[in-house]
Amino acid sequence: MSDGLILTLNAGSSSIKFGLYDSAPEPEERLRGQIDRLGPEARLVIGDTSSDVDAPDHAAGLSAILDAMEPHLKGATIRGVGHRVVHGGADLDAPHLITSDLIATLEALAPLAPLHQPHNLAGIRAAIGAFPDAVQVACFDTAFHRGHPWVNDTFALPRRFYDEGVRRYGFHGLSYAFIAGTLASDHADIAQGRVIVAHLGNGASLCAIREGRSVGSTMGFSALDGMPMGTRSGQLDPGVILHFLAQGMDADEITTLLYRESGLLGLSGLSHDMRTLLASDVKSASEAIDYYVFRLRREIGAMAAVLGGLDALVFTGGIGENSPEIRARGLEGMAFLGLDLDPKANAQNALRIEQGAVPILVLPTDEERIIARATAAALA
Ligand code: ADP
Repeated sequence: MSDGLILTLNAGSSSIKFGLYDSAPEPEERLRGQIDRLGPEARLVIGDTSSDVDAPDHAAGLSAILDAMEPHLKGATIRGVGHRVVHGGADLDAPHLITSDLIATLEALAPLAPLHQPHNLAGIRAAIGAFPDAVQVACFDTAFHRGHPWVNDTFALPRRFYDEGVRRYGFHGLSYAFIAGTLASDHADIAQGRVIVAHLGNGASLCAIREGRSVGSTMGFSALDGMPMGTRSGQLDPGVILHFLAQGMDADEITTLLYRESGLLGLSGLSHDMRTLLASDVKSASEAIDYYVFRLRREIGAMAAVLGGLDALVFTGGIGENSPEIRARGLEGMAFLGLDLDPKANAQNALRIEQGAVPILVLPTDEERIIARATAAALA
């Protein structure tokens, strides 16, 4: 093991997820946890234990995380801090050392991701304050998609908007980078082909990957497009937004509606959580799942067309990794794409779950590990 430790931080609006790793090239995890509900009711969660914590803001949250980590440091110092940053804009296509110039660039991108970027930056500032001597690295959710062909990067708006940054950036890139890395190391034959990865968690998107590079994504300008999610709408006719505006709703109200009140929660009126909906016998819960499955099938078809055929499909994220029912319903009648599930392997959440020509894999994702690896590389 090399000297010093790596801290990974994923600072959101109301939570900070963290991980503690050694700084070997393949970093070993020592601890993982999160602070939920930053503010008066903040809770520190590590494994199965959860406790009240004094964390009114990101800086206080980070200092509470440091206190919790203290017994695990065993005298070692934090030499590198890796940050999840939602938006790296059109140009940042890889993890980047954090400098004052980079912070200015990321601040300028904040209007493109107003719900996430300011919190990511607050985490960065807090970490620089707490670890002024550590190497700080930013890892972007958009970076994996930066090689997109132009047609997958644009909207059919007047050209100036593209030049101003109104583009299809794509998100969940850390998860896709992790899966692409796993394919390259453990399934080299598949990694060279045309692969769809379905990241189905609280957020959800699909990515079309050819030879290890993203060529298409169901998410676009924001993390709202494509699949319906726990509380986000997924794809909408833009005319719906115009209708809301004409009805007198303002931008904040529409933002809350689309990010926090829609998706599985909005459709079911019951819960954002797939497990809860699958266990429910309420009609609106099963209809919300019906819509989710319908969109999943539609997006698989779209990504297969983007790739011009399919050599493998990978499921990941909480739903993708754990729900045989959603996978089975998503792939029903998809033999025309070579997708045919082995029901027994699927029921067991096995690594390989196909009985047809096209491999179907269930792979756990690990966004924190991608950040830890990038930080270890920067330290090396
Ligand atoms: P996040 O995107 O916040 O990291 P996860 O990837 O953990 O979230 O995914 C959370 C989703 O996964 C929730 O909707 C949860 O209900 C769902 N999920 C977890 N386990 C199962 C399961 N066994 N069956 C169905 N859904 C599950």
